[in-house]
Amino acid sequence: MTFTDLKLHPSLLKAIEEQNYTNPTPIQAQSIPQILEGHDLIGCAQTGTGKTASYVLPILNMLLDAKDNAKVVTALVVVPTRELVQQVCENITKYAAHTNIKHVPIYGGASPVNQIKNLKIRPNIIVATPGRLIDFLNNKHIDLKNLKHFVLDEADQMLDMGFVKDIKKIISFLPQTKQTLLLSATMPKEIHAFAKTIQKNPREVTIERVSSTVKTVTQSIVFTDQKNKAKVLEQLIKTDEKSKCIVFVRTKHGADKLVIQLLKQGVESIAIHGNKSQNYRNNALSSFKNNTMKVLIATDIAARGIDIEQLPLVVNYDLPNIPETYVHRIGRTGRAGHSGKAITLCAPEENKELQSIQKLIGNKIPLEPAFQ
Ligand code: AMP
Repeated sequence: MTFTDLKLHPSLLKAIEEQNYTNPTPIQAQSIPQILEGHDLIGCAQTGTGKTASYVLPILNMLLDAKDNAKVVTALVVVPTRELVQQVCENITKYAAHTNIKHVPIYGGASPVNQIKNLKIRPNIIVATPGRLIDFLNNKHIDLKNLKHFVLDEADQMLDMGFVKDIKKIISFLPQTKQTLLLSATMPKEIHAFAKTIQKNPREVTIERVSSTVKTVTQSIVFTDQKNKAKVLEQLIKTDEKSKCIVFVRTKHGADKLVIQLLKQGVESIAIHGNKSQNYRNNALSSFKNNTMKVLIATDIAARGIDIEQLPLVVNYDLPNIPETYVHRIGRTGRAGHSGKAITLCAPEENKELQSIQKLIGNKIPLEPAFQ
């Protein structure tokens, strides 16, 4: 299948061509026609599969088709983190480059003043985190009574973070008749139960099993004591100085501690987590994206959904206690068909977590050859 087969608007096809995408990814090929037909949809796909474009493209197409192309908000995308807001906005900017469709990001942790000012452009699409959106709805800065398309992305994380009440509150501001799209990297039964409360006869698209890891990622493990992990990490980083990596840690404190430890060992790194200001997180991400910083230390919440093109290495410095998180973490590499490596550092006290992960993915993770 080609993008032309999907009968997208020429201005969107032009933008897609500029991105050098040759064919739709499986989630795009399956979701786009159903979304264009107006169905509600549950999409289960891991990050890195092109799932953002799978809903952004058909929504842009429907907005272009709409006769009442008025300056009102007709599409709303709600995501759990500020980083994801920015990432979805980057996608919209790319795909809407040859249209007059406007969008505005709305998120907490930054002054509301500029965001309120931005709303004056009268956007067609809003991309938001729940808290700030509710504030703006309550204060009537945003009016969603003309909404036609409502998207909840990373729904599983949204539930994990306790956003259910917020989502219900947001829905109370939306018209009854609308299209609702729910995207999630994993599909636990809670998501299905939740979907039932907010969708009508949704079509379902599942790209990979819940437990499946991206096939282009080579996984390996290094068994080591907790206190030796920083040394092992240093070795891994120095083995390939040209390459860059994301290092996952479990806590914010652990992230800051590791930055200091690595600096003592002569390795520069930068940490992103919920206690860092939005400005700091943005700067850290851009220095990582433009290669001035090669090592990014991140907690799961801060890193989930971040898309870094061609990231060659992910290191699990701590094992996550939710096994699905392992799948999300290593999904940072091996994206869009590129190959990648995911190396896990496992201390003896983390054996229980390792067993749960291996049970979930249905494989024993092999030892890292460099440390055998
Ligand atoms: P996502 O899963 O939405 O985070 O997308 C992961 C990456 O895949 C992003 O860098 C997109 O730009 C890229 N991408 C999306 N659709 C395609 C496509 N059809 N062909 C190639 N790359 C794509």
